[in-house]
Amino acid sequence: MAHIHNYSAGPCILPAEVLEQASQAVKSWDDHGLSLVEMSHRSKAFVETMDECRALTKELLDLPDRFEILYLQGGASLGFLTAAMNFLPEGGQAAYADTGTWSAKAIKEAKHAGHVNVVTSSKDSNYDHIPTVGEVDAQNAFLHITTNNTIFGTQYADMPTSNVPLVADMSSDILSRTFDAEPFALIYGGVQKNMGPAGAVMYAVDTEKLGATGRDIPSYLDLNVHLGKDSMFNTPPVFSVYATMLTLRWLKAKGGVAAIQKENEAKSALLYAEIDRNALFSGHAQTDSRSHMNVTFRLNDDSHAAHFDAAWNAADISGLKGHRSVGGYRASMYNALPLSSVEVLVNVMREFERTHG
Ligand SMILES: *Cc1c(COP(=O)(O)O)cnc(C)c1O
Repeated sequence: MAHIHNYSAGPCILPAEVLEQASQAVKSWDDHGLSLVEMSHRSKAFVETMDECRALTKELLDLPDRFEILYLQGGASLGFLTAAMNFLPEGGQAAYADTGTWSAKAIKEAKHAGHVNVVTSSKDSNYDHIPTVGEVDAQNAFLHITTNNTIFGTQYADMPTSNVPLVADMSSDILSRTFDAEPFALIYGGVQKNMGPAGAVMYAVDTEKLGATGRDIPSYLDLNVHLGKDSMFNTPPVFSVYATMLTLRWLKAKGGVAAIQKENEAKSALLYAEIDRNALFSGHAQTDSRSHMNVTFRLNDDSHAAHFDAAWNAADISGLKGHRSVGGYRASMYNALPLSSVEVLVNVMREFERTHG
């Protein structure tokens, strides 16, 4: 395989050794004599895989005991509704921070479950920063945040302090940095940004706050139903869960979240320094809201676009095009992207300034 510097926003780069081991398991899984994807999810081998995946998630996220982990289907997009159905009481209300496209979708889905108060928004400046959240009315069952805004390249520098429990979509920065889980009632995220191949969504559920909505929740949306079945209420996405488990083992062997956070900070510092230094480029996100995972930037002179695109393509960089709602470029630098790939991009930008500045 040619060495591509993969900046895709998701699905995205995964550790090479995970792909190696996972693809081997699709052909023939360890000594089971069968493929991973042709074995029962009730087999001892897969039940152990699911158990290890859930345990490693809890360990690596350093979650308090009251949390339990689920791996389900429907992606974060179904998570928007599931979160509200499980934590927004019948007839109640919840506070939402509107920080990007995914927040807006979370708000839309939560309205199926109850009253939504949008307590802060950066929509008017095309979501170029994380607006502050003041004290929210205690009538709100929770405050929902999107910790990293994949499309706009913004991220909470610190998790907000809140007088009500936090519910968070962490799809695109889960396991990229340490945080205190104490204020959270629910953390969820599609695995395909930082954890594994598409197909599963992870829920970290505060079991002490669950089950207090007074609602009759349809089975698949009821997190209590899934907890009662150890995340095996129905057939789980076996390949996604297996490869996620391998990624978690990889992360643990690297020293866990604190270790990868250092690498992520080094990668983003290198690229932001170049964006700030290089006269041809500017960043989208305001400095204090910059994401370590998705770096959004643009050319100051759009007439250079075709030449710049040719330059990074020639350097075997892939997936750098920005989302259509922001334009320009987006460098997604998830856990598995090595610093050396960022060095290649920064060199292309320097060389481009030399030849086009
Ligand atoms: C990608 C993404 C989603 C959507 O995830 P799906 O699993 O495709 O539904 C939601 N929220 C954020 C922050 C994302 O980055």
